[in-house]
Amino acid sequence: MKASPLLALVLVPLLLPSLSAQSALNRSIRTAENMEPSIPRPEQDKAVAEKLAALEKKTGKKPNVVWLLVDDMGFGDPGCYGGGKAIGADTPHMDRLAAQGLRLTSCYSQNTCTPTRSAMLTGRLPVRTGLTRPILAGDKLTVNPWDGETSLPKILGESGYNTLLVGKWHIGSAKGMRPHEVGFDEYYGYYGAQKETSQAVDPARYPDLVLDPEKLARYEKMGEDHSLVHGFKDGKLDVISDIKSTEDMARADKVLTDFSVTKVKELAKSDKPFFLMHAFMKVHTDNYAHPDFKGMSASKYPYKDAMCEVDMEIGMIVKALEEAGTLENTLVFITSDNGPQMDGWPDAGYTPFRGAKGTTWEGGVRVPGIAYWKGMIAPGRVSDEVFDLMDLFNTAVHLAGADDKLPKDRYIDGIDQTSFLLHDEGLGKRECVFFWWKSDLMAVRMREYKEHVKVILPHSTFMHIDMATVNDVGTAPWLFNLYIDPKEELPVGHRMNAWLASLGADMAAHAATFRKYPPKKVGL
Ligand code: CA
Repeated sequence: MKASPLLALVLVPLLLPSLSAQSALNRSIRTAENMEPSIPRPEQDKAVAEKLAALEKKTGKKPNVVWLLVDDMGFGDPGCYGGGKAIGADTPHMDRLAAQGLRLTSCYSQNTCTPTRSAMLTGRLPVRTGLTRPILAGDKLTVNPWDGETSLPKILGESGYNTLLVGKWHIGSAKGMRPHEVGFDEYYGYYGAQKETSQAVDPARYPDLVLDPEKLARYEKMGEDHSLVHGFKDGKLDVISDIKSTEDMARADKVLTDFSVTKVKELAKSDKPFFLMHAFMKVHTDNYAHPDFKGMSASKYPYKDAMCEVDMEIGMIVKALEEAGTLENTLVFITSDNGPQMDGWPDAGYTPFRGAKGTTWEGGVRVPGIAYWKGMIAPGRVSDEVFDLMDLFNTAVHLAGADDKLPKDRYIDGIDQTSFLLHDEGLGKRECVFFWWKSDLMAVRMREYKEHVKVILPHSTFMHIDMATVNDVGTAPWLFNLYIDPKEELPVGHRMNAWLASLGADMAAHAATFRKYPPKKVGL
């Protein structure tokens, strides 16, 4: 039996002097044992602190935070990332917001839905929280993964914010795991992904289940909740409607957007700032075009119509912020929770990179990231500094003035990137992005280099989830220079960059954090 790779990596640093042994290239500093090291940018931090203080003096409250999270949208889908009109689905709203804000070109998610969403809301890697893969129909968790976690809405709520999640959740639908039970004041949405619902209502795609009453009865016995629910922190839970047809599924996102638009206007009137996470159901397969958007894309394919719809709805939510007079006090961040799910092609997004959802190749984890804040983020900025979506956790906590509420008894992987996002010439504070697949540490990116110690290889075109294997690398790690080889096709390896073998020290230092802060197991 081979030792697990995590264990092997943990054993290496036992020989090293401290938690913070890093490679020579690494500019980051660890300021607390439980906090991810970051690159010090004191002057940038100071300038941005002054800018934020001036704004607060004007508005009389802390800024709002709005996350617009699209499900499974590829890096190459929006026009501002090379897609849009060129691939048959124009995205004028995302393109405009990117042009008037900051477009990140090295923004990273986890490789599937649940891991990314939980990481954004806890600032912690899925391997630490136990939420290492999507929770699917029939999964029975042994432990509530939220036990012992401090969610972002909980911290913001304690700091005077109204907190609202609209849309897809996907981090547990059992009692005690729902959004309004783990920190959100209010939740309006669906617990699972589109496909989990449509598989029971679409006879064209799933005749073997939908047209077989015996199987369908057994499926329904699994007890998954596919309703639109409206939950409140005080325990009140209303079931609004059920998805009974593909047309109901097609209409789901517009219902959610209309709700967010109404709520933005209501929340903007309050003395309190707000945190809104609007998580679209689209463009995760199965996409069905809303009647108002059918054929809207040049391509006419359902995925492309869904892209057009989501883009238009992003425009509607931002317009609601503007009409409510609160656009200048709101950080808007638009992103996707992972790369395109190529297994669902042609109901799938586009990435110019290698791999797709379910892998730690760039195609699985490099996602669009647009930061927009009228008057606070200079228009037209583009940055290749690395950014991890977990950084949104720390950034939101910092904007709320709640740094003192960050947990000290567990490891926090996110980094406060407020000054990077808001300074006109902002530089990133993150040095390394670590890529995990379930409980395997797979790769690290630092600057333009990415080193893999394990890789996921598909055994059929596009089958990155349904027919892929996890593989150890050979004598040398697979080292790519993403500036000259963004598709990760030909390693530069030790034949060109032998000195970069030192990146192994950064992976070992990262793995060593698990000795003091062991990972949690929740039964996934
Ligand atoms: Ca997803």
